[in-house]
Parts: sequence; C-alpha cells; structure tokens
Amino acid sequence: MTYRVCDRGDGPGYTGIRIVTVTIAAECPRCGGPRGEGSSHRFHEDGEWYVADRWANPCGHLDMYGAVLAEYRQWARVREAAEQKVAERSAEWPDAGEFTAAVALLRAATAQVRGLHARQGAQLLQMGGHEEAVRRIEEALVGRLGRMSARQAGQYLTELAASRAACTACDGGLINYRGRDGEFVSRRCEACRRDVAPGA
Ligand SMILES: [Zn+2]
Ligand SMILES: [Zn+2]
Repeated sequence: MTYRVCDRGDGPGYTGIRIVTVTIAAECPRCGGPRGEGSSHRFHEDGEWYVADRWANPCGHLDMYGAVLAEYRQWARVREAAEQKVAERSAEWPDAGEFTAAVALLRAATAQVRGLHARQGAQLLQMGGHEEAVRRIEEALVGRLGRMSARQAGQYLTELAASRAACTACDGGLINYRGRDGEFVSRRCEACRRDVAPGA
C-alpha cells in the first residue's frame, strides 16, 4: 500500500511537518487483515496547505502516522542490508534461473529477520522491482491459504524457474489444443504459471 503520511519528527516539541510517501504492507500488522484505501485529506497548518492520506482499516485497528513511518523505515533498512549482502556475494547466489536475483534477496532477508513471512518477502521484492516473482508468490499464498514463509517462497521460485526452463508443453505459458467441438482453445500451463489470458 502507498500512502502519504505526516512526519512530525521524532523528538519532543514542534519541528514542523513534512509529507512522506511510504509503501508498506497491504495488511494490518496486528491482525493480518487488509488495510484500507487512502483518501486525500487537505489541511492547513502553520501557514501552509498540505495533503496527506487518511484511511480506515476494515479490522478496526488504527494506523498512526508515527507507527506507519517506523514500519516503513524498518523495512527500508532490512531491504538495504539485504541488497548490500546480495551485491557483495553475487558469486555465491544459488542458481534459480530467471528468479536468481529475487531468491538471493529472499535468502539475505531471511538471514536477517527470523521467521520472515512470504508476504513480507514479497514486499521486499516489490520494493526491489521483482514484479513477476511477487505475482507468483502472491498466487502461491492464495493456494496455501497464506501459510508460507519467505524461505519456502524462495524454494517455490527456484522450482518454478526449473519447471519453466524444462517445459516443452506450452507456447509462452499457453497450451493450445483442439476441443471436442473442433474449436481451438487454450489454457494456462500449470507448469509455467505465467500470466496469460486463456480462451477460445
Ligand atoms: Zn487489524
Ligand atoms: Zn509451460
């Protein structure tokens, strides 16, 4: 989720206000339920106009701007440290085909944060621009009812890259065949799991 939040600094006393755009988990950190959509809130303070987002989570838990900023900065630190580790040890990356860089990042983050969830791993990958890996993890999470660690997500991507590389059954993720009525139809290749639009 991306929100514009108010940053009033960490210290006591009034130090002014700054609007910061943050990308954080789409889930409430307390119950795992979805976070609400932000809506623009324009306000006047100290002689200036500002626009920040306000949102209500369906679960009822409140997201305070200070806690949201702390969550955002904590994840930024984890991601920076993981990316640095990945860059330093590129020779040691395990081979995961097209997902090699994404899997290396997941492994580095897992080494830093014990019990990292696949959803949190996907958030780090999202910030790192590994969009295909994120989509595949999100899809696998639905199939596993959310029970998946970041470590398992890395294994999943490694296996998926291997099965894609080995697949000879499909054409770019689509299996085309002639149906019983003689019409040509196509369906998604479950070995490759690409985003395709199956149809007649
Ligand atoms: Zn909640
Ligand atoms: Zn295939």
